[in-house]
Order: sequence, then structure tokens, then C-alpha cells
Amino acid sequence: MPGFELFGDKERKQVNDVLETGVLMRYGFDGMRNNHWKARELEKALAARMQVKHAQLVSSGTAALTVALASAGIGAGDEVIMPTFTFVASFESILALGAVPILVDVDDTLTICPKAVEKSITERTRVIMPVHMCGSMADLKALKEICQRHDLLLLEDACQAIGGTFDGKPLGSYGDLGCFSFDYVKTITCGEGGAVITNNEKYKFNADHYSDHGHDHIGSDRGAEAHPFLGYNYRISELNAAVGVAQIERLDEFLGIQRKNYTILRSALETIPEVSFRRVPEGGVESYAFLNFFLPDQSTTEKVHRALGIGGVDACFYWYNNNWHYYKEWEHLTQIKSLGKLPQEVYNQLPDYNTSDFSQSDHWVGRTISCLIKLGWEEHEVQQRANTMCEIIQSII
Ligand SMILES: *Cc1c(COP(=O)(O)O)cnc(C)c1O
Repeated sequence: MPGFELFGDKERKQVNDVLETGVLMRYGFDGMRNNHWKARELEKALAARMQVKHAQLVSSGTAALTVALASAGIGAGDEVIMPTFTFVASFESILALGAVPILVDVDDTLTICPKAVEKSITERTRVIMPVHMCGSMADLKALKEICQRHDLLLLEDACQAIGGTFDGKPLGSYGDLGCFSFDYVKTITCGEGGAVITNNEKYKFNADHYSDHGHDHIGSDRGAEAHPFLGYNYRISELNAAVGVAQIERLDEFLGIQRKNYTILRSALETIPEVSFRRVPEGGVESYAFLNFFLPDQSTTEKVHRALGIGGVDACFYWYNNNWHYYKEWEHLTQIKSLGKLPQEVYNQLPDYNTSDFSQSDHWVGRTISCLIKLGWEEHEVQQRANTMCEIIQSII
């Protein structure tokens, strides 16, 4: 991550195709567009790369999660189980549909804990939403088994782990639905954009309509199209999609660079006995977008994180007190600070997160440092970084 680092001629060429015709919209204007259908092209390429039947592009990763839930018929009062360590988009998408976000602990995978999931299932639960944080995945096998036993949907948020695999399958393709973000800082970027992938024809049909005001997309006269059900506008523009067409072709090149840089840093840190690494579930292969490691206790972790910053080692994150990624700073959620009234179901069913016990999450996230793996680093820079990190960690433990 992030794909913008290697932005170049291929991206410019794709964008210029769109600018030359001036058709910035993904639908209609057939005569003017000189046969450029960038959004369709990216959907085809993404579905092929992710080994699924269908992909639906939308305007963001948050939109992808919302559209994925909507396409499966999730609505007011339905409960969606999600982890305490994720991005705010998880609960935003759930609440956007009037559904209820049920937070549960993460474990040493830094993703949703299957045992905690099982304890949180009620008769209103409809979806389990694992989030493959920082380049590695949840225990999808255990989660799928729970879904099958309780007749629930498995929706993978693979926004931070595109290109990783589980049981030989691309992340996002293992569950019923998978979501990606192509925002500016993700492994491949469209500037802004996102996608839903699925093998389920009905979900694809629904996502296609829902993300474009419920339009049925039959015929070539947009004005004459019917709208069999309500939708919104979550469309991506052709300009954004064009960037993605160039970037997806480079995904495997980017993953190779991530893996190489990750391995240099990891090999160095492995020589320090006090450092341990997040658990990758059996059968999983990381995307190597981040290197995540644990230190023996929270206070050491805080000290090391501070020292890394002072020592000029950038792009290392301590998520425990981060605004965007950890429940502790989600005051807008825990205090339900909504501009307008939310559906009554949300007020009735939302647990009081001010009194919840997420000590298992605190135990792991409080000891975690994550290093973003950049694509633009030269090998000698990564070596230098590895040496500096080891010196700093050893000076503190
Ligand atoms: C980036 C991200 C999203 C949302 O993506 P946007 O395109 O920024 O809306 C959702 N989930 C996770 C885990 C992310 O990292």
C-alpha cells in the first residue's frame, strides 16, 4: 500500500481515453463514448482476478459495504456482527440501512474472534462481517462454519488485504459477499472507489440496481428505464474507474513488492525474542500490506511507538488510541451522536458500548504496532529501516 506511489503512464493513458470522449459517466451516451466502458472493464478484470462470477463497482469502500448489505436484503433491526478493530465504515454502512452494529472482540489474528462471534448471536443476527485488517485475514473457515450452523451471511471486508488468500481463494471471494476499497491510500486506488464481489446472481442484480437509483439498466435509453425497487446513487465515475483499470493490472506487481519489503523487515524483527507477530489463520496468505507485531506489554508498546516516531521511522501505527480504527475513540457511535433521528430499532437494540467489556481486544491491540509497507521504498532504505527499528526496540525493552 498505497498504489498511488507508483502512479504513472498506464494510469494517465486510461484517464486520457475518458477525457478524449468526455463521457465521464459509466452508463449511457453509447454513441459518444468511442467504446470506452472503464467501469465495466474494471468489473470484468476484478471478477476474473478474484475468481468470482460478479463484481459491482461503486463510489467507495463504505458504499461497497452498504450496497453489499442492501443487496442481501439487510434492513432495519437486522443485527450485523463486526469487530472492535476495523475502520468506521463498518458501522457506518450498517447504520445507513437501519441495521444494528454488534461489536465483538478481536483475537491474536487482529481480526474478529470466532468464539466472541458465537456468543453474540441472537435471533436477529443476519450477517457476520469479518474485517481483514492490515493485510491479513480472519479465521474464515471457523466463521463460515458458524454461518452455516446459524443460517447467517458471511460478508468479508477485504479493503485492507486485497490480494491475500485463504484456502487458495482470494480474500473477498470466500464468503457470500466481499468488499474492496480503492480509495487514495489503498493497495490499488481509483482516487475514490470500491467494489462488491459475489458468486450470487441475485446479489449482483440487486447491487447493480441499488447503486444507481434502482434503475433496471434494460435497453439503451436511461430515461425509459424502470426502477423495480428503491435505490441510491453510489455510482463510480469513468475517470475513477479508468485509474483502476490500470492499477488492477499492476496488483500482482504491487503484491510482490509488498512481500519483499515485508520480509526484510520481518526477518530483522524476528531476531528480537520479545517481539512476536500476529497469528495468520492456517491456510491464509497475507497481502503483506502491513507488518504487525506485538510487544510484551502496553507500556513498552507505547514507548516503542513514540521512539520510532522520534527516530524518524514513519508509517508505524499504534491503533489502540487511533480515532478511526479502534472502538475506544468512537465516541460518536458510543454516544449515538446522529444529526437526525435513527430508526427506533437502532435505539432499542444497540448495546451500551460505554459499559462493554472488550478487554480481550485491549490485550491484543494495546500491544500491537503496525508498519505500513510502502511500494516506493528502495531495498537499501528498507534495510536501513529494519536496522533502525531493531536498535530502537532493543534500546527500550
Ligand atoms: C478504507 C476502508 C474502508 C472504506 O473505504 P472508503 O473507500 O475509504 O470508503 C472500509 N473498511 C476498511 C477496513 C478500510 O480500510
